[in-house]
Amino acid sequence: MKNKQIILKSRPIGTPTNDNFEFQAIDIPTISKGEILIKSKFISVDPYMRGRMNDSKSYVPPFELGKALDGGVVAEVIESQSSKFQKGDYILGNLPWKIYNQANENKVQKISSLIQKPIHALGVLGMPGMTAYFGLLDITNPQPGETIVVSGAAGAVGSLVGQIGKIKGCRVIGIVGSDEKAGYITHELNYDQAFNYNTCKDLKTTLREVCPNGIDIYFDNVGGTISDAVISNINFGARISLCGQISLYNAKEIPVGPRLQPVLLTRSALMQGFIVKKYAERFPEGIQQMGQWIKEGKIISRENIISGFDNIPDAFLGLFRGDNIGKQIVEIL
Ligand code: NAP
Repeated sequence: MKNKQIILKSRPIGTPTNDNFEFQAIDIPTISKGEILIKSKFISVDPYMRGRMNDSKSYVPPFELGKALDGGVVAEVIESQSSKFQKGDYILGNLPWKIYNQANENKVQKISSLIQKPIHALGVLGMPGMTAYFGLLDITNPQPGETIVVSGAAGAVGSLVGQIGKIKGCRVIGIVGSDEKAGYITHELNYDQAFNYNTCKDLKTTLREVCPNGIDIYFDNVGGTISDAVISNINFGARISLCGQISLYNAKEIPVGPRLQPVLLTRSALMQGFIVKKYAERFPEGIQQMGQWIKEGKIISRENIISGFDNIPDAFLGLFRGDNIGKQIVEIL
């Protein structure tokens, strides 16, 4: 058995590269009472990690230079000195990017019995799924017949938002970065229409064409010029759920866009940002409902799985190239 970790070697300026990460061979940890030894099985790479690579204050502390990066991990218990866990249990935790970790029994949790496939604890029944569920339903309260526009619509969160919108009887339009993604969300996920922002003739014109009744709800995963165009087309009483701004995460300077407050003002619109952690106490409700919809075939989830611990940095970098359809996960064999 060999252990490895990935540390933050340097902080990126602009788009991160493989040079910002370093692999190190390390010992397999020993455990003491109240601890477990776990082997990482599935590691989640997420856009918010880009913000943690900067040395700036946010809602989660920055990654430390020279230390292992960390994030959502599903792992298998290899050895236990805890009465709470047995060898072979699958756990979910926020853990360092290491093949083997030791963990205190109170810092990780067994995967809920509501989650049949452990990988779902990082996707549809985990943080991204809860983001889609609460970010859409709690903030925008979609009503049958309304038009929802989702940006980043083929990603971990966006691919679920549109399906929840359809369950609620809405007309759902997705904005994506490739024709393959547009085909996937319309053919497989029941989106009513989708378009590729890289090849459409003009964002505002295209939005007017695909949303002849205007836009009642915007689920914003990307920000920037895409969101400027969507927000300029909103209806009176529109609701905007501000989930992510990935198009700006690598910006060296935040670009100044159109001033959107007059649109929000004159259309009596609501725009609300949120961090999914706010809903942590209601996660069991979200997991239960999303799990039910999966069973009923109303929600389809897809994981974009890359194999191999050594591919974690590239899987992360791929989020900014638009490589993934569905939730990006690295499987550790
Ligand atoms: P994701 O959508 O699975 O992956 C990122 C996708 O973003 C890429 O595949 C790419 O798709 C798109 N993208 C990348 N660079 C872009 C750019 N410059 N302009 C437009 N699109 C770009 O990621 P996710 O986990 O579902 O997260 C989606 C958003 O939600 C992110 O902004 C994330 O930070 C945010 N988020 C927020 C919360 C919260 O608590 N508020 C929780 C989870 C996630 P295309 O090929 O379509 O461009």
